[in-house]
This record gives sequence, C-alpha cells and structure tokens, in this order.
Amino acid sequence: MSDYIDQLIADVKAKNPAEPEFHQAVEEVANSLSLVLDRHPEYRSQKMLERMVEPERVIMFRVPWLDDRGDVQINRGFRIEMNSAIGPYKGGLRFHPSVNLGILKFLAFEQVFKNSLTTLPMGGGKGGSDFDPKGKSDAEVMRFCQSFMTELQRHIGPNTDVPAGDIGVGAREIGFLFGQYKRLRNEFTGVLTGKGLNWGGSLIRPEATGYGAVYFAAEMLATRNDSLEGKTCLVSGSGNVAQYTIEKVNHLGGKCVTCSDSSGYIYDEEGIDKDKLDFIMDLKNHRRGRISEYAEVYKNAVYTPVDHTASHNPLWDHKAHCAFPSATQNEINAKDAANLLKNGVFVISEGANMPTTNDGAKLFLDKGILYGPAKAANAGGVAVSGLEMAQNSQRLAWTREEVDGKLHRIMKDIHRTCVDVSERFGTPGNYLNGANIGGFLKVADAMMDQGVV
Ligand code: NDP
Repeated sequence: MSDYIDQLIADVKAKNPAEPEFHQAVEEVANSLSLVLDRHPEYRSQKMLERMVEPERVIMFRVPWLDDRGDVQINRGFRIEMNSAIGPYKGGLRFHPSVNLGILKFLAFEQVFKNSLTTLPMGGGKGGSDFDPKGKSDAEVMRFCQSFMTELQRHIGPNTDVPAGDIGVGAREIGFLFGQYKRLRNEFTGVLTGKGLNWGGSLIRPEATGYGAVYFAAEMLATRNDSLEGKTCLVSGSGNVAQYTIEKVNHLGGKCVTCSDSSGYIYDEEGIDKDKLDFIMDLKNHRRGRISEYAEVYKNAVYTPVDHTASHNPLWDHKAHCAFPSATQNEINAKDAANLLKNGVFVISEGANMPTTNDGAKLFLDKGILYGPAKAANAGGVAVSGLEMAQNSQRLAWTREEVDGKLHRIMKDIHRTCVDVSERFGTPGNYLNGANIGGFLKVADAMMDQGVV
C-alpha cells in the first residue's frame, strides 16, 4: 500500500507544482488513509483519493478597484470548489497577501474532511484574494469587496456554494460582500455565513471556532479524567479564533498567557483576564492596531517582535499545559513542537488550519500527547455556519443557548468519531488518523453512491 500512496503523492506534486501547502495537506491525509485502503480495496479501484485531490472546479479572476487616491489597483480572486458529494460547497474566504492557488487548495482539501466530520450536509470549498485589508480605509475595503463579489456572485448561491470568513475577512467584509450580492442578484438569501446578527447571522457564529477548539480540548482532557481548570495555555494569533479561545479557556478556569499578531507576541504571566481580553477585542476589531500596544498598557507583559531569521517561534517556548495555535499554517515546526513537549505541554488543540508541519505533528503523535488536529478541533466554526444556513432556510433565529448547545454537542460527536475511528483502525488515541479517516469515509461513500461524476 505504501507504494501506492507514495505514487499518489508523487503524482500530486508533479501535477500541482509550486504548491507546497497543498502537497503537505494531501500527504498528511493520504498517510492516514493507507489504513483504510488496506481494508477497502473498492476505494482504491474507484480511485477515490485520485478524485478527491482534483478540485471539481477552480475559479480565478481579476479584481480591479480604485484606492482613495483614485489609483487603479489589481488583485487576484479565487474560489476553489473542491467537493460537493455531501452538500453545497462551504468554506471561508481569506484576504491576505500570502494567498495563492496552492494555499487555497490546501484549505479547500482540508475543508472537505472537516465539513464531513461536523455531521452536517456541507461539501468543501475555499476562496479569497491576495488583497491585504491591513492599512486600508473602510471605503477601500468596501470597493474591493464590491469588485470581488461582482465576479464571485456568478458562481455561488445558497444551494450551490456558501462562503464565510477566514483570515482578513470578518464582520465588516462579510457585510460589504453580502450587500453587493444582494444588489446584483436582487435577492436576500443565505449566500454567506458570518452575517450581522440583525440581518440573518447566527448567534455564537463569531465565537464558534474558538469555543469549539476549547470544547475539543476539554473532551480530550476528559479521556484522562482531567479538565482545563487551572491549566496554563499558550495561544497564538489575536484575531477571531484566538479571541474566543481565550474567552472560553477563561470560562473553564484556565489561564492564557500569550497571544500574537504577524509582528510579534506578548507574554503575560498573570494571564489574559476578561478586562485584558476586552482591550484586545477593541484593539483588533475596532481600532485595528498592533498587539505590541498590549505591553504598553499592561506593564507586566513582555512584547517580543518577530525575528524572521530565527529557526523557531519563542511563543511556543514557555512552560504550559496546553497550546491553541490560532494564527496560520505551519506556525509550529519540528523545533517548536520539541520546545512545547520540553515545556510540559500535553494538549494541543488546533484552531488555525494546518498550524503544525508534518514532522512537528509526528513528534506529538510519537509522544502520545492529546493532539487534536485542525480538521477536528476547529470544525466548530463551519458547524455553526451550517446552523446559520439551517436558520436562514427556516427564516428563524435560534437563541444563544440553543446554538451553543448544538455546537457543544457537535464537538463532542466529532471527538467521539475521532476516538472510535482511530481505535477501529488500530491506532487508538491517534486523533489525526481518526479525523482523516472519519471525514473520508462519509465523503467516499457518497461519491460511490453518485457514480463517476
Ligand atoms: P483573523 O484574521 O481574525 O486573525 C488572524 C490572526 O493571525 C491575526 O492575529 C494575524 O495577525 C495572525 N496571522 C495571520 N497570518 C499570519 C502570519 N502569516 N504570521 C503570523 N501571524 C499571522 O483570522 P481568524 O482568527 O479567523 O483565523 C485564524 C486561523 O484560524 C486561520 O488559520 C484560519 O484558517 C483558521 N480558521 C478560522 C475559522 C473562522 O471561523 N474564522 C474557522 C476555522 C479555521 P495580523 O493581524 O498581524 O495579520
């Protein structure tokens, strides 16, 4: 079987050159799936994996817009419609200068398995642009979003493809995108999730990814009769996922001592309590400032700027019990992983997508710590997006308690799937295999039922 997997990975690399993140995501999943293909040769003969690594559709387009000086700016827009076997394409939009085809293909590929794990009927997709919202005025962001949606609206719809937010796409951007869709199509419909609460958004959607990652960590700890009470936690990022991770860790009696942005990180030994979190939310969501300002206000905190020449990230080199990477892909390399283990971290719950390199993940798995991979641990965001779609279809709005209860239930179910599947395939406690195989089986069986399409 390993010859077959090796060949598949080699073919993906040859056919998709210069897309290292996509290769990495495929390699991680394919290695888990060798356990399934041994037992189910029909998936191999039906070329399920070969089909899943090929997007159903890739859309790439020009996004011209005028900046505040009246100068013409050009960005590139994308939507990857990866797999629709179990429902309409669903997945976020990312606006960040690093966005390219390979990054979005890795994210769309991950999304297929993640959405399957949520138990909701959602296929996988992802999109975005190399546009950088940082430093742009609200009016510039609006003009960009309107131009982006002018093309994207041809390809999406509430039963076809339903985008959401991701890095650089929050409530402001979703509002501008939705407004342009509605104007062009003359319909008020659930075509995006993460909408404002007074125009079709779901309660708990902003909180969902962070809360979900913490619920997942709590479930993993419960398998060892332990909890988050009194645990020290390292968090990276200071955006949507990081903010609500910190909030839920605080609710459950833990203490977060770090957070970051792309310029640097803060270490606050006393912990980021509710007041300090309110400061971060105002700083990042309204004033759009840098995390270094935290250390100017809270004098006990230490700010460390990013050193681009360093071989590792010092954020991961502090004594702690748990880590919640919540910034971006490949933010934990093998050296960081070794530092985390050395410092006593034994719970990793990945809020970001693919934050750990494959050799870093191997260290966690070899050590037998509680390692919750992204496609399971951060599935709470898309799960509540699925619940937002359901509420939009019914033209109803559920209460905060109702949505949070459903989110908690879904995270428990995903955890149970990971545990059961990893045991069934002979690798108990390996949540990575559990998530990859659990996500794969549902999609592969649906594809079998639907024929060669
Ligand atoms: P935000 O844009 O709200 O926040 C992103 C944070 O990560 C910011 O603090 C940002 O700093 C930092 N960051 C981004 N890129 C880099 C980088 N290259 N190096 C260092 N820091 C970086 O995004 P989200 O919180 O929504 O997303 C964070 C992660 O979670 C992403 O991997 C995303 O795919 C994943 N995710 C998000 C979901 C959601 O519901 N939002 C759902 C599932 C996964 P700066 O402002 O300086 O760029």
